[in-house]
Amino acid sequence: MSSNIPLLDLNAQNDPLLPELRAAFDCVATSCHFILGPEVDAFEKECAKYIGSKHAVGVSSGTDALLLCMMALGIGPGDEVITSPFSFFATAGCIARVGATPVFVDIDPVTYNLDPKLVDRAVTTKTKAIMPVHLFGQSANMGALCELPSTRRIPMVEDAAQAIGAVSRVGNVGTIGTFGCFSFFPSKNLGAFDDAGLVTTNDDALAEKLRVMRAHGSKPKYFHAMIGGNFRIDALQAAILRVKLPHLDSWTKAREKNAALYNELFAKAGLPSEKLGLPKKVETRHVYNQYVIRTKRRDDLRKHLTAAGIGTEIYYPKCLHLQECFASLGYKDGSLPHAEAAAQEVLALPIFAELGEARIGRVVDEVSAFLKAS
Ligand SMILES: *Cc1c(COP(=O)(O)O)cnc(C)c1O
Repeated sequence: MSSNIPLLDLNAQNDPLLPELRAAFDCVATSCHFILGPEVDAFEKECAKYIGSKHAVGVSSGTDALLLCMMALGIGPGDEVITSPFSFFATAGCIARVGATPVFVDIDPVTYNLDPKLVDRAVTTKTKAIMPVHLFGQSANMGALCELPSTRRIPMVEDAAQAIGAVSRVGNVGTIGTFGCFSFFPSKNLGAFDDAGLVTTNDDALAEKLRVMRAHGSKPKYFHAMIGGNFRIDALQAAILRVKLPHLDSWTKAREKNAALYNELFAKAGLPSEKLGLPKKVETRHVYNQYVIRTKRRDDLRKHLTAAGIGTEIYYPKCLHLQECFASLGYKDGSLPHAEAAAQEVLALPIFAELGEARIGRVVDEVSAFLKAS
């Protein structure tokens, strides 16, 4: 009997690091530097170096990273922010939370990321930011997005929550827009033991603004020229992430290798592309936070894989523009057809670094056998 294959196995990553992770915990526990302090400073420097940005500011989650950027740009009621309808809820939620209007434009059906042509058409005088998402670990088409004459003076907030280490054709994610937002949610490529996030920027003044605003806008202490929030990263999470960061590149390489093997084995299985769509790498480095296939028989395939003990997930089953909480925006079924089709057809397969060839082979066999028998 073959054993189950989970979508993600965090123990496989954490177990070899447990002694170091425990030591990091002890170090924070005995230092009593729980809020900001040396671990956070060091982590921010190490992240800035890894990502290639001038500044990195640790925050409480990927969601708060996005929200803080909206606040730092002074975005509010009457403003529009253009973003993708095919993303995790936080992408649009943070726009609405500051009172602005999310403007959803359709995705490119090959990459699942914002279609720059449609972004161009959606820009108005009210557009105060553009928020591309680097979905599944592949950069949005930042080259095209930045070259549009209509977007040149509009701040770009990169939702890089799924894409630490990814590289677009015009540079590393998180270094191209005004801000880059990262998440260390446990299932992201670099995962903490709680919620945590990061904002990157190359702008000195904006970096300082982020630092002040993540601590209630307090500067000097107890004096508030602006309104911020409690958006600080935990020192404990920073210490844990510092143990993991040096391994991130080897983990990412393993994900890339796994994806290449999936592609090779699926190609050998010889299914026509109408039956099985595979992820396509069009930017420079895809970090495969998810390996997402596409089929019209998605729901039945998922049932089959679950019965075979293979973990899968649907990212995402309902587009953001059709969520009940955004009903007042007036989008309808069919408004954004590429995103809506993707929501019906995509399925994420296991891709974590420690997966190994044998298990990839088994997943490919199960998927191919099911799709051939129809
Ligand atoms: C995970 C994620 C977020 C939110 O990050 P949290 O750390 O969970 O708050 C935002 N956007 C995208 C695309 C994500 O995948």
